[in-house]
Amino acid sequence: MKTLFEKIAAKEIPAEIIYEDDQCFAIKDIRPQAPSHFLVIPRKVIPKLSQASQQDKELLGHLLLSCTEIAKKLGLDEEGFRVVINNGEMAGQTVFHLHMHVLGGRPLSWPPG
Ligand code: AMP
Repeated sequence: MKTLFEKIAAKEIPAEIIYEDDQCFAIKDIRPQAPSHFLVIPRKVIPKLSQASQQDKELLGHLLLSCTEIAKKLGLDEEGFRVVINNGEMAGQTVFHLHMHVLGGRPLSWPPG
């Protein structure tokens, strides 16, 4: 069965896609938690970060660099932005297809809830 994000990548479910390449894509979060909130998602389905392996090293680096490139294009770099990965249910993960949240555009408190 396809994950939600595979269906979005296949354009079976509509989403605002803001970036795409051969390894990943980025969409605007449907329930934004900050003025800017997008998700960077690998095309490869890794259910959660803790299931990534040594073979995914390059992909994980690519995802992080994509987060920063997109954040810079959106003008978030000057004031700052946050990259979040929820790993597992207790951490708040609801979609079991690895993704990085990028949030910015307002002051973000610490520690997170
Ligand atoms: P997580 O809770 O870390 O697994 O993050 C999943 C994120 O996906 C949440 O922030 C949701 O708001 C977001 N989301 C769920 N469905 C969609 C959708 N159809 N389009 C865009 N974002 C979505």
